[in-house]
Amino acid sequence: MEKVEYLDPEKSIALFQQYKLHKVTENANGTIRWRCQQCKSISITVDSDENIIRNPTKHSKHIQNVCQK
Ligand SMILES: [Zn+2]
Repeated sequence: MEKVEYLDPEKSIALFQQYKLHKVTENANGTIRWRCQQCKSISITVDSDENIIRNPTKHSKHIQNVCQK
């Protein structure tokens, strides 16, 4: 499984395909949902071992020229 990367040591910003994602919700089972901080249209879910357990759906897109890598 793919591990999530973080931009900062505090792990407040995750990196997914070099886009910056912000933490949205922490679920009761320890998984965390992250969402693109700019378009808010894509999100990933990461488990407590920092594995990406859910990727964005294929049809969801970032907004060109809005989402910066
Ligand atoms: Zn985006």
